[in-house]
Amino acid sequence: MENQPPTQLEIERGLQEIRVRWRLFWFLAASFLIVFLIFSLWAITDGRWHKVGRSHLTALLGSSVVVNIAWCRAILCRCPRCGQRFYLSGSAWPVPTTGVFAGKCVHCDLKLRPDKDNRP
Ligand SMILES: [Zn+2]
Repeated sequence: MENQPPTQLEIERGLQEIRVRWRLFWFLAASFLIVFLIFSLWAITDGRWHKVGRSHLTALLGSSVVVNIAWCRAILCRCPRCGQRFYLSGSAWPVPTTGVFAGKCVHCDLKLRPDKDNRP
């Protein structure tokens, strides 16, 4: 049996999934950045750099791993229309192409936010 082309609903759902992954990534990245900044400011203003222990660094490293996993999940998602990696073209894994900023599939030009299509 040949693969049926995806319906509009399936494409919409796929795009929604990609948007959710990006939102999760930005949320985690922002939280990590804020916590890191507060922690750094606290350490600097109090002159506590000497008290920054291994557990703090481990916590920071752990958070950055979580953010990186979220990044990979967002960057490795597949296009709901053509089935290719939405942001990655060719073998340049896992380096994203400009598709990340263009907000569309690098293979079939499917836009991440179709409702913005008609805007000038
Ligand atoms: Zn595509």
